[in-house]
Amino acid sequence: MHVVIVDPSRVVQQKLAVELEETGCRVDCFSASDLALQYVQQARSVDVVLTSLELEPIPGLELCWSLRTIVGEKRPLHIIVMSSNSSERALAEALDCGADDFTLKPVRRQEMMARLRAANRIITMQRQLIALAQTDELTGVMNRRAFLSLMEEKRRELAPGDNLTVCLLDIDRFKKINDTYGHDVGDMVITKVAELAGEEAPIVARLGGEEYALAFPVLDCTESARWCEVIRESISAYPFACKDATFNITCSIGISAWHTDEPLGAALKRADVALMEAKQSGRDQIRIEARAETLPA
Ligand code: GH3
Ligand code: MG
Ligand code: MG
Repeated sequence: MHVVIVDPSRVVQQKLAVELEETGCRVDCFSASDLALQYVQQARSVDVVLTSLELEPIPGLELCWSLRTIVGEKRPLHIIVMSSNSSERALAEALDCGADDFTLKPVRRQEMMARLRAANRIITMQRQLIALAQTDELTGVMNRRAFLSLMEEKRRELAPGDNLTVCLLDIDRFKKINDTYGHDVGDMVITKVAELAGEEAPIVARLGGEEYALAFPVLDCTESARWCEVIRESISAYPFACKDATFNITCSIGISAWHTDEPLGAALKRADVALMEAKQSGRDQIRIEARAETLPA
């Protein structure tokens, strides 16, 4: 476990750090709460923050609150407050400000170890739940919810004017594959297509059924279309096998530029229109939304 200790006293820091390191924890110590906050924000490996309340420049309770805000819902972080104030009010305040646990100073070794073991159980379970909520069970790629949330992150990360292309990929005549070879083989095809798409596209999600969303941060529609073409070719060339039959499949892809000042749904809608055009034009092809094609270079 990676533990961050925040305490104004270097003696307290050292004593705790030695004890925790003996049990195999990685430990980083801070006296200044602003530096601790900055560190936790950047070091995503931090599992536990063990903090005193008497801190500067950010007071301890505010630190708890800020830590909760920066990690958000998708990153487990267990916050244990250490305080010499044993009043019910102090305990309630700490928990209300985002702490998960509270322990009295001076910290007793065995009790702290037990609290860290409990923290480890909770964090492990939180990680499993987060992964379950974000992963498509069949293919192991992101599900729709995770895709939408990741795209929001990308929207914030990209500089103004940066391109972000979104694509919808749909397997052609998939119903026939199910009907001919059975649902299990259909599932195997859905899984393989996700894998083949993931070899070229940096972001792949299964939206449902035999439909996937791909995204290419930084690339424009034309550049993304080249990668989509590689994906389309690798899918159509892949030799699927079941019992004594071998078969090939094809897919169609619609491509659209996400102008990040519009809702993602608007770009996905245009990608869907482009996908429908690809289907209507005979399938096994990619189509860029009309709007992007008419934009000046
Ligand atoms: P098109 O080329 O127009 O996309 O035709 P299609 O047959 O691929 O499309 P359609 O929407 O008619 O059929 C999709 C089929 O996908 C219907 C549904 O039974 C099947 N399907 C949806 N989810 C799953 C799944 O998880 N596993 C399997 N094996 N089949 C699924
Ligand atoms: Mg289909
Ligand atoms: Mg479909």
